[in-house]
Amino acid sequence: MNSQSETLRHQVVIVGGGTAGITVAAALLRRQPSLDVVIVEPAERHYYQPAFTLVGGGTYDLSRTSKPLREVVPKGATWLQASVATFEPDADAVRLEDGRRLHYDALVVAVGIKLDWGRVEGLVEALGTQGVCSNYSADSVAYTWECLQAFRGGNAIFTQPPPPLKCAGAPQKIAYLAADHLRRQGLEAQSTLKFYSGGGALFSVPDFVPPLERVARDHGVEVTLSHDLVAVDGERQVATFVTTGADGASRRVEQPFDLLHVTPHQCAPDVIRESPLADAAGWVEVDKATTQHVRYPKVFSLGDASSLPTSKTAAAVRKQAPVTVNNLLAQMAGQEPTASYDGYTSCPLVTAYGKVMIAEFVYGGVVTPTLPLDPFKASRFYWVVKKHLLPSFYWGTMLKGKAPDIAHKPLKAS
Ligand SMILES: Cc1cc2nc3c(=O)[nH]c(=O)nc-3n(C[C@H](O)[C@H](O)[C@H](O)COP(=O)(O)OP(=O)(O)OC[C@H]3O[C@@H](n4cnc5c(N)ncnc54)[C@H](O)[C@@H]3O)c2cc1C
Repeated sequence: MNSQSETLRHQVVIVGGGTAGITVAAALLRRQPSLDVVIVEPAERHYYQPAFTLVGGGTYDLSRTSKPLREVVPKGATWLQASVATFEPDADAVRLEDGRRLHYDALVVAVGIKLDWGRVEGLVEALGTQGVCSNYSADSVAYTWECLQAFRGGNAIFTQPPPPLKCAGAPQKIAYLAADHLRRQGLEAQSTLKFYSGGGALFSVPDFVPPLERVARDHGVEVTLSHDLVAVDGERQVATFVTTGADGASRRVEQPFDLLHVTPHQCAPDVIRESPLADAAGWVEVDKATTQHVRYPKVFSLGDASSLPTSKTAAAVRKQAPVTVNNLLAQMAGQEPTASYDGYTSCPLVTAYGKVMIAEFVYGGVVTPTLPLDPFKASRFYWVVKKHLLPSFYWGTMLKGKAPDIAHKPLKAS
């Protein structure tokens, strides 16, 4: 039989071997070791992306952010090194790029978010040269630190696209690390730091906006909202933004730069957008509590590719995964899904070297800290959590499917 016509069958097919795919696979096999689970993932390596911010800030080794995929695939699961080309939920199947068809009793879609580098004219050509850097890719993150070290004053610009984006705090974290680095180098006086966001607020949860505005002000980072990066001219070192004036007319604003940290525009992956699984925005359309697909009960989705209306982070996946696992096993046993996700997500906002403020919240932007500490205050303790505890928790606990249910509580009595 040639591969084109080959048909495979597994009890559970997981598409994507990133944070969500591996966590769910491991937790499923912990619950039911005899389950036949396949993970479809084309990449050779698995990345712990939350540490990219620290790599860009020169305080973490890039080599420590990844492991070969074969080392994170849980014992008992099969890794199929391939890409899914199409989803065929009416036939309970997915089609691989090489033409093979894979049938399932249950499907978990965890393909992440698409980084749309091509949306900004000239960015692909300029990235990695002329001071144009980005923490959003393992290929470009080391260059961020090179740029910071080479910077001797001038204009440093940091951009954030309009939503959606993963880890919505990451675009400003690198601006604060840069400001702190330049201060330590005695380059503060000759440097101008500007943060441009295509969104209308510095952060999606209003309670965190005033403390973050203070952080930006204290660092001397000028914040400009509703300015969307549309073009980068690497040769001339000019960034172009589009903004809409009070008269409703859009205008272009050019800014010269010596360093430009770009957070790329992001959107739902094409393979989802073009599939029957998608909602109007292109995400896998799941119930916001159960993570089960609203039209195809055998299908579940979590993480960045899902329609779950919360901030897209690995921390959110930590809380989504046990819900998905419970409900998927219930579905396979012919029972109703009963586990429920409350929208928990968390963003460790690095505000300087040695300082982190952790924004934890659930649906509706309700602030829900895990620890009894002031969530609006950056602390050294949270820096240790971010730099040392979370990476080892990720590799040793979460990806092993062991994540304990650590409770979070609303800050304000409702
Ligand atoms: C700079 C940066 C900083 C961040 N900081 C934090 C932080 O501080 N805290 C935090 O919690 N989160 C942070 N995040 C976000 C976090 O990394 C993501 O939210 C998380 O990895 C999402 O997990 P996922 O499994 O949905 O997607 P991913 O981990 O991105 O995995 C998706 C996987 O799907 C695979 N895939 C794609 N298409 C296909 C296909 N067609 N077939 C098969 N496989 C496919 C990909 O190869 C990939 O391995 C950060 C991210 C970045 C980039």
